[in-house]
Parts: sequence; structure tokens; C-alpha cells
Amino acid sequence: MSDRAVALLPDWVVPVCPEGRVLEAHAVVVDRDRIEAVVPADRLEKNFAGIEIQRLRDCVVIPGLINVHPHAAMSLMRGLADDLPLMEWLQRHIWPVEQRWVSPEFVRAGSELAMVEMLAGGTTCFNDLYFFPDVTAATAIRAGMRAVVGLPVINLPTAWAENEDEYFSRGLQVHQELLAEPLVSTAFAPHAPYTVSDPAFERMRELAEEMDVPIHLHLLETRGEIDDSRKQFGKHPLDRLDGLGLLGPRLLAVHMTQLDQGDMDRIARAGVNVAHCPASNLKLASGICPVAELDRRDVNVAIGTDGAASNNTLDMFAEMRLAALLAKGASGDPEAVPAQRALSMATIHAARALGLEEKIGSIEVGKQADLVAVDLSGLETQPVHHVISQLVYACHRGQVSRVWVAGETVFADGRPTRLDPDAISDRVRQWQRRLARTDAEANP
Ligand SMILES: [Zn+2]
Repeated sequence: MSDRAVALLPDWVVPVCPEGRVLEAHAVVVDRDRIEAVVPADRLEKNFAGIEIQRLRDCVVIPGLINVHPHAAMSLMRGLADDLPLMEWLQRHIWPVEQRWVSPEFVRAGSELAMVEMLAGGTTCFNDLYFFPDVTAATAIRAGMRAVVGLPVINLPTAWAENEDEYFSRGLQVHQELLAEPLVSTAFAPHAPYTVSDPAFERMRELAEEMDVPIHLHLLETRGEIDDSRKQFGKHPLDRLDGLGLLGPRLLAVHMTQLDQGDMDRIARAGVNVAHCPASNLKLASGICPVAELDRRDVNVAIGTDGAASNNTLDMFAEMRLAALLAKGASGDPEAVPAQRALSMATIHAARALGLEEKIGSIEVGKQADLVAVDLSGLETQPVHHVISQLVYACHRGQVSRVWVAGETVFADGRPTRLDPDAISDRVRQWQRRLARTDAEANP
């Protein structure tokens, strides 16, 4: 143990593993970047004599929340175009603005905006999918935030790359540059089955195996995607991906709103992970991911917000609550996705989906100290009959009082410790004017 070790002493600790457990009068001992011990408070003196104790009165400490699908930089397009179908929203509003403006500066400004929001809401790690992942990675490192940055692959020319070959070469370079980074790792991020070729998927499958990284893919978001795939490839997207060897535990399939019973059995057998983005699916009227039925089949379902352009927040507390409620309403089963399962989906399930299960996702000895203190003293979360119920059904993100990533405090007293919200706000206002102009020109 180093002399920098501290003992966090909240009223409750929810370690998430085992699911549903609530520890009272326990301390989490953090030594540098890792969790050294979880011990009853009355043993602190004996086992850790002289250790600095940080008393967190009325707080519950939980593992940091993990957003498995935020498109951080798209926060600059929050509210740009709402209440539209997916394809109209993409083709008439999002893509024209992206074509005109996506650049390292755009990604830096959007990612910073997203990171301030995520940290303030108790999110310590996010799994991104966007252009210029090198910039997102650098911004996360600067913010002290953990991230998995997607190496995008799409058969459309963008400011990041001209063609699939170039997407691969640039992506592989980013991967190399990040190999030694403790907080940031990579995943392949093919945009969607309808925008990635068979040879690119095959190459990606081989590389992902070699590099030991996940594959993060939008899949079965809308009914139209299945009809188009039959026309374009003569196959259902799942048949096509299966034939390409993509259906397996490396795959994190985002959305999955169009699943029949046979599809669910198939992805359960294959060990595919699902990123459930309920707010975005509802807002774009894409459909509803059958989470209750996936959960019954032991499919690893994690929660993501999707980008702020289609949510319109990156609020994992809101998303957990919605995931728990929607599963019940959609299945007709009030016991579907209970509060403790929703919390698992935002923590340990997410870590598993990203291949980071040994490192983060729960409060266990040896794991990274990615932690969140949530203050339950407000009357809106009193009385505290059941801590986990409060967290999922009654809490809002404003109750997050302190956030640690790898043992470092990255959010406290209402502010991120490493980012400057005032400067970020100034930059965001400049971007707002530029994007609004482009959007008006594209939609006269
Ligand atoms: Zn998305």
C-alpha cells in the first residue's frame, strides 16, 4: 500500500457484483489507480492504521457508469433537427452538417462538451463511434476519462478517410498510437451493415481477432434495414453477418430493435452483446429492443444513450430508468429488468461488452477505481428503503457529487477538475452558429 491510499466511507456501497448487494458501513480503500479493499468501517483502523478517510455522508458509492454508445462529438448537433424519421434526419440534417464541418476542431469541441456532461452525470467510461477517433482519444486523456474509441469503417468518403482501405490504415495507426495508454483503448466501428462491404467485414474480423478488440456496429435499427439488405445483398443482415463470421462475443450490436424469436436464440447462442439505446429508439420511432426476452436468454445487454443529436442527453441515470420501465411496458411483465439488472447493464454488462470486465464495471478488489458518489440526502430520494431502487427509479444525475477515474477525482463541487466548462461553452456557441447556417442552406 502506498502513502497515497485513501478510504472512501459513504453510507452505502453498491458493488454491483454480486448483483443486488448493498453494503452498509463499509469503506472502499483506493490505492493510486486501483481498489485495494472493501472493508467494514470498524476494521479500517486495524487493517489500514492512519489511512486518510474521506467521509461521504448520505452518499452511495457505485462503480462508474459506462455509456456503450454516445457518439460524443455529435453533441454539437444536439437539437439541430428533432421529431423526424431516421433516414430523413440523417440525410437532410446530420450528414450535410457533417460533410461541411467534421474536422479535428469539430470533434474536439463536441467531445469536450460530451465529456463535461458525461462526467457530471456519473459516466466514467464511454465507447465511442465517430470520425477522428485520435482526437476523441486525446480529449478523453486530457479530461481524465476512460474511453474505447471506435476505428470507423464506412464505404463513404469523409474528412477522416476516402475509402475503406484508408479507414483501415488510419484506424490501425490510431490503434498503434494508443497501445500504451492506460485509459483509452480501441474497437472497430463499422458504421452499419448497409454501409460496409463484405471484404471490409472479413478483414475486420481477422484484425479484431489479432488485435483482441471488440467490433461496435449499428445493427437492426429499423425495419427498413432488413428490407434494404434483402434487396442489396439478397439476405437478412444477420444471415449476411453470420456468413462473414461476425456473430460472436466480440460483436457489440447497437439497437437491435427488429428481432424475432429465432434471431434472439441465434444471437444468444453466438454470444453477441447488445447495446440498448431506448431513448434514441423511441425518439426516432425505430422500434423497441426486446430486452426482457434477451435478458431471459442471458444475452449480455448494456445501455447506451446514442448521440445527443438523437436522445438528446447523455444521461445514463435517465437511460437506466427508461430501460427498466420500457422493458416492463413492452413485455407486459413488471418483473422484467428490475432495478439491480438495469444498474448491471450500465456497469458490469457494459464492461463485459467492451472486453474490460477484468478492469472495470464493479467495485471489486484489484479493479480500477472508477467510482461515483451519489448524494441521497435530498428529500426527492428520501426515505431510502432500497438503495438500488432509489438509484434507478428516483435519482437524477444532479445528485452525482463526486467522480473518480483510476483513483483520480475528475468531477467534484459541480465541476470537472480537468476541463474548463466556460471555455467549452464559448466554443460551443461559435459552432452553433456555423452548424445552423449549414443546416438552413441544406433545407431552404
Ligand atoms: Zn448510433
